[in-house]
Amino acid sequence: MKLIFEKSVAGRRANRIPASDVGIKANIEGNLLRAKPAELPELSELDVVRHFTALSKKNFGIDDGFYPLGSCTMKYNPKMTETIAGYPGFASLHPSLPQLPGGAGLVQGALAVLYETDLLLREICGMAAFSMQPMAGAHGELTGVLMMAAYHKHKGKVKDTILIPDTAHGTNPATAAIAGYKVETIPSDANGRMAIDALEKALTDNVAGLMLTCPNTLGLFNHQVKDICRMVADVDGLTYCDGANLNALLGRCRPGDLGFDIVHVNLHKTFATPHGGGGPGAGPVGVSEKLIPFLPVSIVRRRLNGRYYLDYNRPHSIGYVAPFYGSFAVILKAYAYMLMLGGDGLLRVSENAVLNANYIRHKLKPYYQPAVDALCKHECILSAVQQAKHGVRALDIAKALIDRGFHPPTVYFPLTVPEAMMIEPTETESKETLDAFIDAMIEIAGLAVSEPERIKACPAKTPVGRLDETLAARKPDLALL
Ligand SMILES: *Cc1c(COP(=O)(O)O)cnc(C)c1O
Repeated sequence: MKLIFEKSVAGRRANRIPASDVGIKANIEGNLLRAKPAELPELSELDVVRHFTALSKKNFGIDDGFYPLGSCTMKYNPKMTETIAGYPGFASLHPSLPQLPGGAGLVQGALAVLYETDLLLREICGMAAFSMQPMAGAHGELTGVLMMAAYHKHKGKVKDTILIPDTAHGTNPATAAIAGYKVETIPSDANGRMAIDALEKALTDNVAGLMLTCPNTLGLFNHQVKDICRMVADVDGLTYCDGANLNALLGRCRPGDLGFDIVHVNLHKTFATPHGGGGPGAGPVGVSEKLIPFLPVSIVRRRLNGRYYLDYNRPHSIGYVAPFYGSFAVILKAYAYMLMLGGDGLLRVSENAVLNANYIRHKLKPYYQPAVDALCKHECILSAVQQAKHGVRALDIAKALIDRGFHPPTVYFPLTVPEAMMIEPTETESKETLDAFIDAMIEIAGLAVSEPERIKACPAKTPVGRLDETLAARKPDLALL
């Protein structure tokens, strides 16, 4: 497809702006003035509409079809929350508008949304307070680990190590390393959970904390998690819950009750705000009582007279992690989603997310080897080791699924499972959709034995076939389509 610049025809235009009759020249400094007009593409309105409509059709999103990208919780994003985020009273707010503490602040409604979302997250996660500032899960992790460091420093302790199980998402060790910690990896046991004996050996006075995903990236809940939190606390370490998998716990179990000191919540996963190509995220971080002094500035507070204000007077705070209020529109959509579902609705989210994952696991078990043959939580991890014997690898299966109209699952993660396919259906998918996906996976398993070359030739129905993914990321040729 041609670039929009290549479609340009001199003199063609989409609109005509009348000559200015105001007669005021903008006062722009000489060296900022353009020497010649910008060379913008010249096209008719129809050319522009067709160009961008064609581009939009080359995309695949949750609104197009099933998107079981494990760990990413690609659930449906209800349009109602978009409508609310578009209300002029929110969408037209400027973050620099005065809050006028005690007076007629112009952002009271927005501050109320932040304050109340904090309260809802406290209730859902069992934590003492949240910072709404971090703009993604990984950003929340860094915020949390910096609070860990501030806590130990405040107590006059020098600790240099963070423990992380081998199934962790890559952002966990990356976060710990960026915060200046040594990372020690704890292996998994035969059941796919962090090995307790290995943890016990690693727990020394140098341990600042443990980062644990709950349930873990194999979709398994660790029944010893309370003991784990206690063991870490015994060496005066802190426990960090990577809450990306909160979808499995909603309404049933709270990280704070399990003993975690810190948790991040991916609003763009659990609370249905668009992500990936669909927009920015938000990764609020919750802490237990003893870490409240270290939360980032600012914090929304509520006066007795019902007025909200931003509190910057926090001497032990780790400081700023984001400008203004964080990803406000994302927080607003998550808030609307929580209110829309209510407590009962959130409980049904986790019930159906877990049911859907186990349905897929059960139906596909005869065809693909499960990573662990046990009930899972909200996602199931299958391995393509049997198919790999015929030369069909997890990547090939992913490409074959694209040709069948599905977004592939996450592949080759977690790293502990060979030929991993991490399938997260989410609660918003119907039985018909799950069955269609299961049928496609069964068909592919059959072809992997009978006609493996057909699977290796996929995808055939996409604008481009298999790319050199490294080159495509480094030197994207967007006109290739
Ligand atoms: C998505 C995810 C993260 C990182 O969250 P982002 O919002 O993508 O930065 C961390 N851990 C796990 C387990 C995840 O799935």
